[in-house]
Amino acid sequence: MVQIKTPEQIAKMREAGLVVAAIHAATREAAVPGATTKDLDEVARKVIADHGAKSNFLGYGGFPATICTSVNEVVVHGIPDEKTVLKDGDIISIDAGAIVDGWHGDAAYTAFVGTGHAPELVELSRVTEESMWAGIAAMRVGARLVDISKAIESYIKRQPRPAVGDHSLGKYGIVEDYGGHGIGTEMHMDPHLLNYVSRKRGKGPKLVPGFCLAIEPMVSLGTPHTEVLEDDWTVVSTDGTWSSHWEHSVALTEAGPLVLTAVDGGKAKLAELGVTAAPDPLA
Ligand code: MG
Repeated sequence: MVQIKTPEQIAKMREAGLVVAAIHAATREAAVPGATTKDLDEVARKVIADHGAKSNFLGYGGFPATICTSVNEVVVHGIPDEKTVLKDGDIISIDAGAIVDGWHGDAAYTAFVGTGHAPELVELSRVTEESMWAGIAAMRVGARLVDISKAIESYIKRQPRPAVGDHSLGKYGIVEDYGGHGIGTEMHMDPHLLNYVSRKRGKGPKLVPGFCLAIEPMVSLGTPHTEVLEDDWTVVSTDGTWSSHWEHSVALTEAGPLVLTAVDGGKAKLAELGVTAAPDPLA
């Protein structure tokens, strides 16, 4: 069953989403060469405390930290620690969440550490982020869940992948083992959202006002396949190629999508795509 939210509940989720946006802003500033991933976790912990919110990551299935820090070939679910020191040229995905009055927010972004990144990494992150926005723009009343998957996949497939070293697949790897999800009174709820179209899954539920989803493509420069390391969390690409991950939590309203974890509610970016974002209930 999909949990459908009232406008009042969406306003609460917006509060949680803005805490997540604040974690993103603070960790983005702290993700510099010489910082450890543990330092970033401390930054996130403080933002959550300052807002009087709660962490939904800490303790989730035993997860030991407040954010996931996934560096280079780590796709998702990297655990912050003192050993992982960020270096110039690294890319890191930071996935963060918060709970306000029982309502959850969840979002991730890919950051560049230092300067001088190879153009294919800049392009990888751009393609991943834009595919997320294509998915968000497809979140329309009356559409089906599969329309979001289709928008994400077809955006990625339209992008020529730059040649990288000896990897000449000529296309990006769309990670299939993980995907987006419903969100609300829990961080992970029905339905699961694939980042590609699967005939086996059918069209999925119809999108109605009150439908809330975390939309999160994960894309690698090589293989779509992943494996989990011995810590039972860290997910890496099986061929060691680097990957990007972007995520927003989005509420569908009568007036269109509201990007709960974007400071402007998604207004600017959706306008570029010809979609009007719903008004911010807290503005
Ligand atoms: Mg998520």
